[in-house]
Amino acid sequence: MKSDDIGFPSRSIWVARVPTKVAFFAWETTWGKVLTLDRLQRRGLQLPNRCFLCGCEEESVNHILIHCTVVRALWDIVFGLVDVKWVFPETVKEALASWRGSFVGKKRKKIWDVIPLCIFWTVWKERNRLAFRGGVKRSKVKEFFCL
Ligand SMILES: [Zn+2]
Repeated sequence: MKSDDIGFPSRSIWVARVPTKVAFFAWETTWGKVLTLDRLQRRGLQLPNRCFLCGCEEESVNHILIHCTVVRALWDIVFGLVDVKWVFPETVKEALASWRGSFVGKKRKKIWDVIPLCIFWTVWKERNRLAFRGGVKRSKVKEFFCL
């Protein structure tokens, strides 16, 4: 399924008890508005594109929030808790659109709904921490081991 074919996943973004800035960040990622390195390059900035978290792949919003091996570990923990196998979607938009928690029960559903938004927010904050504290340098060392 192509990302364009699915509707905008508003129900998975504007979730009760989630701080506005966290929901808004998810909204931005869904529209591809987050300034990841691939977008900065497309704007003409001359900089190397290496994910600040794994140091192996190029950074894009879909990589850093879903596919990055470092972030995958987080997703695996979440799905390990509920013993569910998740087919990892291509895009953030698809991830949110397919985020259904009917199997966790009504009581846990409220928490379940918050999980992707919290992961996105936490990962992005960590990414920025690394990016502005010499994450690139560290990534270059890691790059060596990735080849
Ligand atoms: Zn990565």
